[in-house]
Amino acid sequence: MPKRVYIETFGCQMNEVDSARMISLLESADYRQANSIAEADLVLLNTCSIREKADQKIRSALGELRRWKSGRKGRLVAVGGCLAQQQGARLAEKAPHVDIVFGTHNIARLPDLVRRAENAIPSMEIDFSGDTSHWDAPPYIPSGASSAMVTIMQGCDNFCAYCIVPYVRGREISRPSGEILDEVRSLADRGVSEVILLGQNVNSYGRKEGEITFPALLRRIARVPGIPRIRFVTSHPRDLDRETIDLFGDMEALCPHIHLPVQSGSDRILAAMGRGYTRKDYLEKISALRRGRPGMAFSSDFIVGFPGETESDFEETLSVMEEVRYDSAFSFKFSPRPGTRAASFAGAVPTEAAGSRLRRLQSLQDEHTRERLAACIGREMDVLVEGPSARDASQLCGRTSCHKFVNFYPEKTRTGSLRTVAIRSAGAHTLSGAEGAPRG
Ligand code: SAM
Ligand code: SF4
Repeated sequence: MPKRVYIETFGCQMNEVDSARMISLLESADYRQANSIAEADLVLLNTCSIREKADQKIRSALGELRRWKSGRKGRLVAVGGCLAQQQGARLAEKAPHVDIVFGTHNIARLPDLVRRAENAIPSMEIDFSGDTSHWDAPPYIPSGASSAMVTIMQGCDNFCAYCIVPYVRGREISRPSGEILDEVRSLADRGVSEVILLGQNVNSYGRKEGEITFPALLRRIARVPGIPRIRFVTSHPRDLDRETIDLFGDMEALCPHIHLPVQSGSDRILAAMGRGYTRKDYLEKISALRRGRPGMAFSSDFIVGFPGETESDFEETLSVMEEVRYDSAFSFKFSPRPGTRAASFAGAVPTEAAGSRLRRLQSLQDEHTRERLAACIGREMDVLVEGPSARDASQLCGRTSCHKFVNFYPEKTRTGSLRTVAIRSAGAHTLSGAEGAPRG
């Protein structure tokens, strides 16, 4: 009988797609997915280390797994991802109940490491080998999925002063375009309608390898039949070029939404972060995108309380938010990460001041989110169905092309994943509506 693996994923979409790949890889070691930890033989934590909070969550999960493991002989614990990469040896020392520690470049080794662990041989593999052979394992997607993530690159060369990613994911490596296109074609054959291209800095795709450029890749993907929606994440504002901006106006399949993390609205802080653009550069790109694709939606990431950030720097961040009026945003208090430049910068912002800035920023964003959602009321929008609504089983839930969640009452005679929904009301984070009766 196959054994069962339960994977808990922390952090970003890169980790989500890696976890989906681990499921496929573990099938070759005769493991199937478990629905809960209780029914699992192997529990795998795919970890994140982007902020200290993520670290703490993982430590507490590891504490619980110590008890879980002692409940039955033969249970195995594996830890992969960014925290495993960063703290491998220390992790194994502090949590001796962990059987396998594997890094971000050792994913393809997972089936072998599990077999060893089954024979009571613990493993720790965290070398930065530049290995990308895990890309050969197609990420698991549930049957009937309408949307899927496709990795186009790994790692990052930017070394923003605050960020641990280049240290735990390694240097940027782009995936061959032929492999990406094969994966997209096979997703289309499985009925997937939307692909989300993933990388830490998608706009620099292919530059080091002499591959086709990112806009050329987008054009080729748009020619794959059966993929009406293409998204990508994450774009770096410095590297987002004119050609890609223009594609938003020319390419129907490119969804009218972009996640363009600004981090701060102050030029002084942007320079200290090493972001490579100014507030003016950023706002010009936003305007160009709006001109090219009226109705375009925007989201962003913000860091408040970066070392040396004054009240007036912070007000500039609020004013960027006012100027763009993002549809949604993720915002974080600066978290010093070991080994990064900013961890030793002077001018730490007191925790209470950073907390209060974060609350102010988030409440301004909440206003904008409500305003942007309310502007959809009365419109008919195309919604890609993701499944039943979590709050009402008689409704379906999906996303608009501009990345807004919609819960709606379906028309019983309709099928298919792309549906036209009349938006009736807007809440703090989602839209509600109903599908019209079939016409004609
Ligand atoms: N590559 C993307 C980019 O450049 O925008 C995003 C990378 S990171 C996984 C996601 C977000 O985490 C960043 O945009 C930033 O806002 C936030 N972040 C990264 N390091 C951080 C830190 N040390 N403290 C607080 N937030 C951080
Ligand atoms: Fe981190 Fe900057 Fe790379 Fe994004 S671009 S992953 S923030 S170093």
